[in-house]
Amino acid sequence: MECTQEGCEKEATFELHIPWAPNRAVCAAHARVEARADGVVADALETADEELPDGAAHRD
Ligand SMILES: [Zn+2]
Repeated sequence: MECTQEGCEKEATFELHIPWAPNRAVCAAHARVEARADGVVADALETADEELPDGAAHRD
């Protein structure tokens, strides 16, 4: 599955759970960005070969 972020052709390795929108599959890089939004949770897909580093969702 490809990352659903527009213009991104990377393999999707995370599923974003977004309270105000349908779930989306994205690559690790976009998961890091999107997971910084309030309430958004990035869940590793079974195909994920890397994990979010600790605290990635809280980085400034
Ligand atoms: Zn992406």
